[in-house]
Amino acid sequence: MSVNRFRTYIILCLSAVLMSSCGAKQSQAARHEIARPPFSADSAYAHIATQLSFGPRVPGTDAHADGVDFIAEKLNAYGASVEIEEGYMEDYAGEKQKVRNIIARFGDIEAKHRILLCTHYDSRPWSDQDDEAYRYVGVPAANDGASGVGVLLEIARQLQHKPSAKNIDMVFFDCEDMGTPDFIDNNDRPDTWCLGSQLWAQKPERKGVYSWGILLDMVGAPGATFYKEYYSVRQASNYVDLVWNNAASLGYDDIFKSQEGTAIVDDHLYVHRGLGIPCVDIIHTLPQGGFPEWWHTQEDNLMQIDRNTLQAVGEVLMSLL
Ligand SMILES: [Zn+2]
Repeated sequence: MSVNRFRTYIILCLSAVLMSSCGAKQSQAARHEIARPPFSADSAYAHIATQLSFGPRVPGTDAHADGVDFIAEKLNAYGASVEIEEGYMEDYAGEKQKVRNIIARFGDIEAKHRILLCTHYDSRPWSDQDDEAYRYVGVPAANDGASGVGVLLEIARQLQHKPSAKNIDMVFFDCEDMGTPDFIDNNDRPDTWCLGSQLWAQKPERKGVYSWGILLDMVGAPGATFYKEYYSVRQASNYVDLVWNNAASLGYDDIFKSQEGTAIVDDHLYVHRGLGIPCVDIIHTLPQGGFPEWWHTQEDNLMQIDRNTLQAVGEVLMSLL
């Protein structure tokens, strides 16, 4: 006991010397003034508002085509090398579904050591968590579609100003949200979701190219909470820790919660299953599990977007690039 107390005294003296030698840098006030990674939530918000102005970006509609054009044009303007990957997948009803993934490359486009940043841009065709009257009405998808796109487009703009030393690919997946409607069959078949990432992950030439990836899904709501998603922890635990530690060091541990969350079928699952890429899903879930009440309803509109959440997610990603 006394030895411990003596040790504590020595440590306190040493830390007092260190603190005074480092001056004001050690003060709590100074910690709050650490250089923030560059990211404009206003710009991300504007990209979300533009997508919503097209209407729900339901595959096969004009609004969806407008969404593709908008994303591709922005990425081109920000200096990325852009490709639209087209293919067909079977949907929940066994019908052929056209899929259009948007791929943007930054840095040395031939380099084989790349980081994957991804999100989905499509809107769910059915508001099947809303009143019955809205069953066949597309979701505005401010959070569940447009938010991830808004954040990635703003990161693309930042990369044009200040290129990263890392080679980065962004993939905007289509048809993520076409999983079997609840009112048809609620014995949810997982593989009816995430058709775009399933198509993307079928290409063997992509194997071994990506060291790891981050998926964004529903990253704009006020008071959002991001738990360490179950599959992400199983397939990419080091990277989950890296992302959450960076968030904590930026002061965002109130949004990026250090607890493990529920298991979510999302694009990161197929990216890992098909190509072995460890991928971290940053997705808004509730403390008790499940999604917020606006999920897959008409309420997933611009009212559910908060610049503070976009800023947190944007800064965390930029700190990793
Ligand atoms: Zn969804």
